[in-house]
Amino acid sequence: MNLGEKMKPVLEKRLAVLKEEIADIDQTLREPDSQDFEERATENEGDEVLEDLGNAALTEIAQIETALERIAGGTYGDCVTCGEAIPPARLEAVPQAAQCIKCAS
Ligand SMILES: [Zn+2]
Repeated sequence: MNLGEKMKPVLEKRLAVLKEEIADIDQTLREPDSQDFEERATENEGDEVLEDLGNAALTEIAQIETALERIAGGTYGDCVTCGEAIPPARLEAVPQAAQCIKCAS
């Protein structure tokens, strides 16, 4: 089994978790704001934090989807910048990594 096939279920699981998170965040953001002004200000701050979390999750979703496409295309595990193989230890830590440590830093 190659590394892409090994990491595919890990990536798919993470993708499902992230999509659930996004759904939760969307639902919370859609809840009507409180009538009380002070409470509303606190809620707005909370909404901003949620939006940041949502944006981070969306970025990760995009990276994971790209990684899954690269698994399908057989290019998973190759650095997109220098073309060298990304060390398996790095892919196990960051399965959606598209660059080797040297290019990512
Ligand atoms: Zn590289």
